[in-house]
Amino acid sequence: HAPLELRAVERRYKTEAGALEVLRGADLTLQPGEIVALVAPSGTGKSTLLHVTGLLERPDGGEVFIEGAAAGTLGDDARTAIRRNTIGFVYQFHHLLPEFTAEENVMLPQLAAGTPRAAARARAAEILGQFGLAARLQHRPGKLSGGEQQRVAIARALANAPRVLLADEPTGNLDTATANLVFDELLREARGRGLACLIATHNPELAARMDRKVTLREGRVVPG
Ligand code: ADP
Ligand code: ADP
Repeated sequence: HAPLELRAVERRYKTEAGALEVLRGADLTLQPGEIVALVAPSGTGKSTLLHVTGLLERPDGGEVFIEGAAAGTLGDDARTAIRRNTIGFVYQFHHLLPEFTAEENVMLPQLAAGTPRAAARARAAEILGQFGLAARLQHRPGKLSGGEQQRVAIARALANAPRVLLADEPTGNLDTATANLVFDELLREARGRGLACLIATHNPELAARMDRKVTLREGRVVPG
């Protein structure tokens, strides 16, 4: 099964002016290890697409398949389990918990998934080490640079060994040089793990380094 497949996905919102049809039959398939850039103007539905793909919102039509499982047929608990274990999320603003250390931030999703504490700690140290943060395990986010914070956020997204990574401007708050470095590490880890990635970005240089580019046109996913 493909790690991720969207079939004829529809999503509309009720507004005062009537129904706003944001996704109107979106199709997209990602193979293992495939890294796809989602590049589209603001307001065209990127966040909606990522939320539906990440099982945070249910589509109004069509279906999202995660490793072949039709998410629409699943209850909320099963969908939460997939969100925790099979999908990793990275955001523009890292959303790290400020009162926890880097290591603890990477442990939390593992603990939520039932990993024993010692194993979660070991894995957090291992992943943070892969991102060059071995000397930063006990630092709280406020003591880390922007690039380091974003690396911790990526490490957190990888903590439960997901098969699909969804990212919304993952380096959008970093200066160009730092964004390039962090993005290199993200790509290297994703390729090394054979992760399917859908990465929304406005940065054409980053998009050019991915395997293919898609955009949204009239609520559909088309080659970018
Ligand atoms: P993008 O991420 O490309 O900027 P979004 O997916 O955030 O686009 O939004 C697409 C369109 O849907 C926009 O016109 C936005 O205002 C609208 N929209 C998004 N979420 C909601 C919502 N919860 N209720 C009503 N309209 C929404
Ligand atoms: P938990 O109870 O473990 O926090 P959630 O259902 O809230 O479970 O979140 C599960 C996953 O979904 C987490 O990895 C979280 O980062 C992600 N998530 C939660 N809310 C959002 C959101 N608004 N947009 C994108 N991802 C989200």
